[in-house]
Amino acid sequence: MSPNAAGIVERTLVLLKPDAVARGLAGQILARFETVGLKIVALKMVMPTRDFVARHYPNTPEWIAGMGKKTLETYKDRGLDPIAEVGTTDPMKIGEMVKAWNIDYLSSGPVVAVIFEGLHAITTVRKLCGATMPFSADPGSIRGSYSSTSAVVGNATKRAVRNLVHASSTPEEVAHETAHWFGPEKPCVYRRADEDILA
Ligand code: UDP
Ligand code: MG
Repeated sequence: MSPNAAGIVERTLVLLKPDAVARGLAGQILARFETVGLKIVALKMVMPTRDFVARHYPNTPEWIAGMGKKTLETYKDRGLDPIAEVGTTDPMKIGEMVKAWNIDYLSSGPVVAVIFEGLHAITTVRKLCGATMPFSADPGSIRGSYSSTSAVVGNATKRAVRNLVHASSTPEEVAHETAHWFGPEKPCVYRRADEDILA
């Protein structure tokens, strides 16, 4: 990267979730990030345990209630009664349920964990991933290119939405998630041949 880019080079964590690996899309998805100029500085494939994936998400009361509220909004949009669907209207209880669905999902098969480095990496990676729900994600994004599932489908089947990728959304998430998946392992330091052109 040029010296001028130094202040805006970030690192971020990406997971290729079990559906992406099982569908043979790992290479294609990694290529989306690499082509934009994001550099792989750490990469591993793991078969995570339930306990390990449970500690991937923040799991704060705010985060759990937030997941519950999103699910309640989906029910409302569809004119569905949460009591009939899941037996409660309590965002915490519903958030715990979605958390459990996510644990089932992320521990259901091998996951590829990657640390990318590059210009505005956190925002750029989120943009490439697209909106959380593939049905709403831009068609050119990763989630919008490889799926059209939605919260409606996830809630109806009582499963997490299989949206292929996870990406950290804040510097705090980057710090927690890179430490969680890579521990004290140091990312590789090297130059890509096109760095001066991309910066
Ligand atoms: N999720 C779900 N149902 C929902 C909301 C989220 O199954 O109503 C799953 C989905 O797989 C998502 C993950 O929970 O990727 C974490 O949710 P978050 O809101 O953090 O979305 P992301 O950051 O992955 O876009
Ligand atoms: Mg998130």
